Amino acid sequence: MTERLTAISGSMFSGKTEELIRLIGRSEYAGKNTQIFKPVIDDRWGKTKSIKSHSGTEHEAIPISASKDILDNLDPDTNLVAIDEIQFFDEDIVPVIRELLDRNIEVIFAGLPTDFRGEPFGQMPILLCLADETVSLTAICTYSENGEICGKPATKTQRLINGEPANYDDPIILIGAEESYAARCPNHFVVPGKPENIFSRKS
Ligand SMILES: [Zn+2]
Repeated sequence: MTERLTAISGSMFSGKTEELIRLIGRSEYAGKNTQIFKPVIDDRWGKTKSIKSHSGTEHEAIPISASKDILDNLDPDTNLVAIDEIQFFDEDIVPVIRELLDRNIEVIFAGLPTDFRGEPFGQMPILLCLADETVSLTAICTYSENGEICGKPATKTQRLINGEPANYDDPIILIGAEESYAARCPNHFVVPGKPENIFSRKS
């Protein structure tokens, strides 16, 4: 017996957490007992034990640092596990999810398919292949020129350092720099210094 795996995939600002919270609410209405997990690294909203969508909806969540902690923190009556920001988890997340499904626990996860370089993020490629259903979300490209925003569907997450596109080789932590992220369509997604590879696209 195995349960169902649902993936929610999309760039930053595409409403993944909002969709995750919606699906959790729907399953709880159907009588499921849910536990939500998130990586410790996700401190967008401070070190609170919750997940929060950009629109303000909130749900209690357990912050963990290793994938296997999910199994250690599992309540006996849990039959739905939701995982946010799954791209940050180590590679054990794949066998952990297999284990949950085999224990007849439904799993829903949300994650970024690609990183700021436009390359596969963590275990997302494998997880998307394992999923029985994938909800693919897009944001709106906020690139602006002459005061007008692009407005096309955004599938990429642009990393900006002091307002400029981050270089391919920029370190993950930059001391003293102001870092931000923005949603971009493929035409306005820029990674200076990016080597030619299968994930390069000409704009
Ligand atoms: Zn654009």
